[in-house]
Amino acid sequence: MTEIKTLGDPNSVQPSNTSGGWLNDLDRKRQAGPFLAGHSCAARGMSTMAVHAGTHDDPRTGAVGTPIYQTSTFVLADGQYQSVEEGFARDRFIYSRYGNPSQWAVQEKLAALEGAESAIVFSSGMAAITSTVMALMDKGAHVVASSDLYGGTYNLFNQEFPTLGMSATMVDSYDFDAIEAAIQPNTQLMYFEAITNPLLKVIDIPRLAEIAKRRNVRLVVDATFAPPIAMRTLEHGVDVVIHSASKYLNGHSDLIAGVAAGPRKLIDMIWPRLLNYGGSLDPHACFLLERGLKTLAIRMRAHEESATALAHYLEGHPRVQKVFYPFLESHPDFATAKRLLKNGTGNITFVIEGGDAAALRLVNALDIPKQATSLGGVESLISLPFNTSQATFTSRQRADVGIDPGCVRLSVGIENAADLIADFEQALATIYSTKET
Ligand SMILES: *Cc1c(COP(=O)(O)O)cnc(C)c1O
Repeated sequence: MTEIKTLGDPNSVQPSNTSGGWLNDLDRKRQAGPFLAGHSCAARGMSTMAVHAGTHDDPRTGAVGTPIYQTSTFVLADGQYQSVEEGFARDRFIYSRYGNPSQWAVQEKLAALEGAESAIVFSSGMAAITSTVMALMDKGAHVVASSDLYGGTYNLFNQEFPTLGMSATMVDSYDFDAIEAAIQPNTQLMYFEAITNPLLKVIDIPRLAEIAKRRNVRLVVDATFAPPIAMRTLEHGVDVVIHSASKYLNGHSDLIAGVAAGPRKLIDMIWPRLLNYGGSLDPHACFLLERGLKTLAIRMRAHEESATALAHYLEGHPRVQKVFYPFLESHPDFATAKRLLKNGTGNITFVIEGGDAAALRLVNALDIPKQATSLGGVESLISLPFNTSQATFTSRQRADVGIDPGCVRLSVGIENAADLIADFEQALATIYSTKET
């Protein structure tokens, strides 16, 4: 009889993801790449890097800008065979799920912007999150996470973890004693979001990093709401930063993508998960993301300018009960925002008189903001937690997480602040002039 081998035998000795394992045994003399030869990636100002880092001007044709390498596979030559044999396949082009010049170009731009050694792009933010979390946790491990997690991440922890023997404890991200108390002997990861949704709490990441270091746990932060112009998250002691690039990084609401950035050693551990789960980014999407990133710095300045003006206007309106914008002095995290954020973002959450019915009338009365979920695009988007992001909650559950009736989520685009203010002025006047039923 032939020998029967069972893959994934639960009693087998598991290779440890977290001790470094095979990575430490390898003596690889490599560049910090992968990156395309022929251009400089010197640390410069953020806007200069947004335009130039990673971008590959094609020397053969003189084309300015990275060509779209729309290919699934690459001719195998000695270098490729050698890289497979010696275990550095990430550094050669073999097959586009493994790597492609269009991916490398945008990865290098993202790494430069985050001040990271290395970055990988993914086919969505969720692909980046799943691959990163699975790479940094062993079977049976535990994660301490924020109780205000993005719904998709919550579902990953809640629905997928039990089948893998993994578990998660959700903790209030303001409560550092509770965070520390939640760390168990099998805790391998702390997972938080830089700015939470929808109340836009600005998390004290340096404090989380201090706890993570002291307790020998890795810290992963989803900084989708705080792109690198606002905050270079790794500088605050985070091990790996993740973004849904579908939001501010791409900035044009025309793409789904994700990124994980950090030290080369950790990104090398995440890369095999990209291969296994298959969430690689298509070359054409890489082109769009790279193009979007070139204007990240000026877009973020425009988001801040319009959002700040609109937040002040809303705060002064008699029918608006609360406004959450981190750069308003009334925001509970104003001091943290001043300390950690170099630039504001476009997200504003506010509560209007008359509850969710009034909020519905408001979004219908507005002309410029489009009713849609998502954020970070050049166009203003507006949505209500009660019928979108927190629709599965009861009103009691919404109250528990601080979402009052009449709560509105607004992602301010780069339109002129005066036009946005005029639009809100007319919409608020319209809905409160008609008698409420
Ligand atoms: C949108 C979002 C994600 C998921 O990203 P996708 O690109 O939609 O997969 C993750 N985290 C946060 C905070 C988000 O806003």
